[in-house]
Amino acid sequence: MTTVPDIALNNGRTIPQLGFGVFQIDPADTADAVGQAFEIGYRHIDTAEMYGNEKGVGEALRSSGLDRGEVFLTSKLNNGFHAPEDARRAFDQTLADLGVDYVDLFLIHWPLPTRYDGDFVSTWKTFEEFYHDGRARSIGVSNFQPHHLRRLAQESDVVPAVNQVEVHPYLDNAEVRAYGAEHGIATEAWSPIAQGGVLHDPVITRIATAAGRTPAQVVLRWHIQRGDIIFPKSTTPSRIQENFELFDFELTDADLTSITALDQGEDGRTGPNPDAFDYIPD
Ligand code: NDP
Repeated sequence: MTTVPDIALNNGRTIPQLGFGVFQIDPADTADAVGQAFEIGYRHIDTAEMYGNEKGVGEALRSSGLDRGEVFLTSKLNNGFHAPEDARRAFDQTLADLGVDYVDLFLIHWPLPTRYDGDFVSTWKTFEEFYHDGRARSIGVSNFQPHHLRRLAQESDVVPAVNQVEVHPYLDNAEVRAYGAEHGIATEAWSPIAQGGVLHDPVITRIATAAGRTPAQVVLRWHIQRGDIIFPKSTTPSRIQENFELFDFELTDADLTSITALDQGEDGRTGPNPDAFDYIPD
């Protein structure tokens, strides 16, 4: 069976470097997809309150026969609940929907700097409560820019364990990754294959042909060799399998350099810019 490497977090805990993401998986299909991922060997699931499918993740966990301690579960606070009282209620609801008494990692999904009077610090201080009472084994952030992280460093006590941001060959997000590396904040790369958008790039297809691998495997392996944490999403059984087969080949330094050179800066972004994003669901 494939062994997925662990990445050490800044609080002494570890996280499997490869997981399974469930963004845009229909709530009705989530238990099946996550169940397949468990069968293949994935032991790290990335969900969010915003995805509406935490219950399906919990259902898959219960029917898998796996012990709670064998699976690393991440969820995220929805954008409408940044006020401390709301965050506390929302976190209780996340635990209830997942059917667990702790999550391995809980994230502020977006900094929303133009909402809540720009105050994501009191939200973070509420996360520190969840960390100290043990119901979130680790806490982190998502879509935080270096200036957001600097502010947390100045105004709070716990350093985020991770920052989950968009990273793929067309968006290197180098400054955010460098800030994390310098301050002990692990980078999680969301949309690691840019939702499929990088798979037809001639540089990637050339490397894939030479390696005898698929373009998705090459891109995912690039992330792994750079040390980022990834959790590609798929509802296609053969792809869920394919995306797990990353540990029996290596890219050369020249391959890594060629893929990294595909960076398009801000033009490569597929999702919203975190400094401007202000979406709050109804
Ligand atoms: P991904 O980069 O993981 O791509 C998923 C898409 O690629 C799906 O359309 C899937 O199709 C397709 N795909 C998957 N594997 C393959 C393959 N081997 N070959 C060809 N196509 C493939 O995108 P996501 O946006 O889902 O990102 C991954 C995870 O990151 C999310 O599920 C979520 O957990 C997290 N995330 C976090 C965000 C945040 O703000 N914190 C934002 C976005 C994502 P199909 O399913 O049809 O097989």
